[in-house]
Amino acid sequence: MKNILVRYGELTLKGNNRNIFINKLIQNIKFKLKKHKEQVIYKKDHKSLTLQVKDELVDEVTKVLTNIFGIYSISLVDIVEKKEDLILQKTLEIAQSLKEHTFKVEVERKDKGFPMRSIDLKTSIAGNILRNTNTLKVDVHNPQNKITVIIKADGVYIFTSKINAAKGLPVGVSGKAISLLSGGIDSPVASYLTLKRGMQVDFLHFMTPPHTSPEALDKVFKLALQLEKFNQSNFSLYVCDFSMILRELMHIKEETYRITIMRRIFIRIANKLAEQNNAKAIITGENLGQVASQTIESINVINETSNLAILRPLITYDKEEIVNISKKIGTYEISVLPFDDVCSLYVPKNPVTKPRAYIAKDQEKNLLLDEMIEYTLNSMTKQFVFRDGELIESERKKEEN
Ligand code: ATP
Ligand code: MG
Repeated sequence: MKNILVRYGELTLKGNNRNIFINKLIQNIKFKLKKHKEQVIYKKDHKSLTLQVKDELVDEVTKVLTNIFGIYSISLVDIVEKKEDLILQKTLEIAQSLKEHTFKVEVERKDKGFPMRSIDLKTSIAGNILRNTNTLKVDVHNPQNKITVIIKADGVYIFTSKINAAKGLPVGVSGKAISLLSGGIDSPVASYLTLKRGMQVDFLHFMTPPHTSPEALDKVFKLALQLEKFNQSNFSLYVCDFSMILRELMHIKEETYRITIMRRIFIRIANKLAEQNNAKAIITGENLGQVASQTIESINVINETSNLAILRPLITYDKEEIVNISKKIGTYEISVLPFDDVCSLYVPKNPVTKPRAYIAKDQEKNLLLDEMIEYTLNSMTKQFVFRDGELIESERKKEEN
């Protein structure tokens, strides 16, 4: 068996919420490791969590853990009894396996009942290593290796490295959001950043068959699945057929307002869906100034249609920064596949860059908005559902068979 020490992220700052956060994090970890339920033992204390796993599972579990929000870093640790000779023996063993030549020993005495002072134990460990190895040297300022020894109530934890994890907050502690997921690069990154702050995400996609192909839908499916490792173990991808509304929008007189009104309708539908699902916010991949229609005027005219906050995590990001994140989280490769988007089909030659709310409202008067939204919502399908970490057969797949 091996021990993996999990350090909580920003949780330390959260006062009374601490326990709720920690319990949520542990629940999320348990779901993600559900298939190894029998092989993982959990040990929780105030500052950290230790997982005991079989040797052959260490790599896999480590990988899963590094993607779970709310975890700051992890270390593979050896745990020995609180006896000096056992500590010396283990630290020497570790030192002998080091590849580089300089090291430093650090001791943290969390259990104040331990009879030795930190400084004495440190000297004893370093002396023992120097006496019993040939090439190792102490370097307190710039060591190639750090051997850390933490004396806790339940034993002595020893490790040499820390693996950075995803940080952020445990998904679910900030409630749930509906994320508008297109097939582009931005919206998956916006979803990821939302998850990072502890909001669970359900996805909503608008398609317009036959103008948009089954491949375009498949892309969205793949994007949502790619984000699964960061999401909570229960989430859905909703798909709305926007064809009827799109046909209706073709009749808008002020052609330059089509995109603005389309987005206003996206938001109205998202609000309804959020209401049904107890979601507290809407997420988009919008960014200031990235394309001509993404102006602050446009954002204001869109906001007006929403009861809920519309969060735009990418609002201030440069495209390059967004692309870098999408590569890191594995959505880039999927996003760049060719696809047809609702917008790209009917973008007017000169979409308005500084729309006015009163003109948008005026144009909407001639549409049967409530009816169209009702109809579209009723025909919405759940593309898939993740329940307890498992993919439940999608409605689309069922229809195809
Ligand atoms: P993305 O890369 O996410 O597609 P974008 O830069 O192409 O973003 P737009 O096409 O202007 O920007 O869309 C802005 C946002 O509106 C998207 O990030 C997404 O949140 C939402 N959106 C656009 N099209 C759709 C769609 N077909 N279904 C669901 N949401 C959409
Ligand atoms: Mg797009």
